[in-house]
Amino acid sequence: MSAQTFEFQTETSRLLELMIHSLYSNRDVFLRELISNASDALDKRRFESVTNKEMQTEDELAIRLEVDKEARTLSIIDNGIGMTHDEVVANIGTIAKSGTKEFTELLKNKEKLDESPELIGQFGVGFYSSFLVADSVTLITRKAGEDTATKWQSKGTGSYEISDAERDFAGTSIILSLKASDAEDGLQDYTDPWVVEALIRKYSDFVSYPIKMEKEIPASGEGEEPTKEDSTLNSQKAIWTRPASEVSDEDYNEFYKHISRDWIDPLKRISTSIEGTIEAKALLFLPKKAPFDLYHRDMSKRGVQLYVKRVFIMDDCEDLLPSYLRFVKGVVDSEDLPLNVSREVLQQNRQVRAIQKHLVKKTVDAIVNMRRNEWDEYQPFWTEFGPAIKEGLLMGPERNEKLLEAVIAESTKDESKRRSLEEYVEDMPEGREEIYYLSGTSIDALRKSPHLEGFQAKGIEVLLFTDAVDEIWLQQPITYKDKKFVSASRGEVDLESENKEEEDKKDEERKSELSELLTALQDSLDSDVKEVRLSKRLTNSAACLITDTGDLSPQMEQIMRASGQALPDTKRILEVNGEHPVIKALESLYKANSSDPKIANYAQLLHGQALLAEGGQLADPAGFAGLVADLMVSAASA
Ligand code: ADP
Repeated sequence: MSAQTFEFQTETSRLLELMIHSLYSNRDVFLRELISNASDALDKRRFESVTNKEMQTEDELAIRLEVDKEARTLSIIDNGIGMTHDEVVANIGTIAKSGTKEFTELLKNKEKLDESPELIGQFGVGFYSSFLVADSVTLITRKAGEDTATKWQSKGTGSYEISDAERDFAGTSIILSLKASDAEDGLQDYTDPWVVEALIRKYSDFVSYPIKMEKEIPASGEGEEPTKEDSTLNSQKAIWTRPASEVSDEDYNEFYKHISRDWIDPLKRISTSIEGTIEAKALLFLPKKAPFDLYHRDMSKRGVQLYVKRVFIMDDCEDLLPSYLRFVKGVVDSEDLPLNVSREVLQQNRQVRAIQKHLVKKTVDAIVNMRRNEWDEYQPFWTEFGPAIKEGLLMGPERNEKLLEAVIAESTKDESKRRSLEEYVEDMPEGREEIYYLSGTSIDALRKSPHLEGFQAKGIEVLLFTDAVDEIWLQQPITYKDKKFVSASRGEVDLESENKEEEDKKDEERKSELSELLTALQDSLDSDVKEVRLSKRLTNSAACLITDTGDLSPQMEQIMRASGQALPDTKRILEVNGEHPVIKALESLYKANSSDPKIANYAQLLHGQALLAEGGQLADPAGFAGLVADLMVSAASA
């Protein structure tokens, strides 16, 4: 087959441009990325070889580096799984399809990128980082078990070429034609073996395959020629087996970047071991930033790798951590599982369940400790990962009590900071049994919501929740320290107060005074609401809409409709404020003429504005505007 030329996707071309401009101070990372890819390919080959004879090899699985000073090339050669022609087309030259939207968004956000250029690392751009140091890149690869090889070549600008090639053994070689070294521009001389060795020690020391390079041994005596000898550049020590006192933070961070493909240091490290009938060690990390696809609907990946006795078994091991902790990265090394363990076996395995339980406990403990003791770090962490963590509250009551300790939320008590449930309950007056909350989509709309008026007048704190998942977990029968969660916009509220008896009596009187008017309003709004009643929660607004106990909230309905469920419309309750001038005026109007046609219009207006005040949408905006216009005309000409 003759060479075929392909154009890069538009996003890919932009990516190359951007990488070169924003990451010039950090060019050395290309080697870490290419070594990580090679190490992955070796992992895959080793894993596949267990069941597929054709993939097996007598040769030691290793990564080899070759430098050529004259040709100015650096080659990274592995005997891993390799790629077929189609895999090269699919993997090299496209960025992760699922990330295209987020990637384009990021490109538009110049400020954010200038601030943290390494954010582009999350899009799986590893291979492209070659162009940070190379003018031209050639990749030659042969899939294990196949005879044909494929060559990919590009200068990184606009297009790449693919053709058939020859390769003696399965695996992948990447040949970088290096740019001229330029210390000022952050370009070291990557044909210098010492430079390469220093980078491997810094970034890839723990890679579990030998990284080899031929080194020149100076002549031992006069008249002797210098000799060349293979040397292994990395210690290959599994970092999680080493005592923490021997490993620097920097080493741990580089290890994290290697396994997570993140370009930013992690936020927290969790080392733990399980001893007794089951033995395992784990090294987990909490990242600083959520990957772009953490909240994609089909996101099922996990970040934990499974090893058995230091041998890599699999990536993304789903059974080691539950889905709500899918952002946690790390490794688990078991002493007891069989080396040929499969995903199916893992699912059923009792030991794996015990490991998972231990890891969940350690991770949640670390998160809660951070909430208690490292508040400044916790705030941004919660913004990134809180919505995922709250998914854990849907997994069953045995986890809730501990997970609820992690939850923080905006509050009516203090606009400047989020509050924990622990703080909320500590500040509760004795005898109160409810944690009041309001949930919706925008914090500004929530803060102005009429539903809060009565609570604010009585100084009762209400927590404000705005993540989609909040709607769901808050509907569960969840308690925290035996206090139940009660929505400020749901059912009847009976707020405590010093002169409650007197207030209740007044309410009853007002209720009977207004009962006919309320029935008239309800008749006019029959198709929109199931009841019009007197409110105990309003002080400033004339009316608000309430979801009946046991009904779906409008947000929940929206979530369920968006997921394709057909639902009948749920009617809500209109609560009116008996002390508001509008209601008093309506009362007089009704007394003067109970069949005044204006009453029906005012009922519509009351309902419409209650809906608007909570950020809802009118079913008939034009009709509503017409009623407002009529009202203005009569008011202006009165
Ligand atoms: P990422 O590694 O984050 O997926 P890259 O751009 O570095 O992104 O690589 C894209 C894909 O190309 C990899 O997921 C892998 O399938 C393939 N690939 C890259 N390097 C190699 C290699 N040395 N051997 C086999 N496949 C590779």
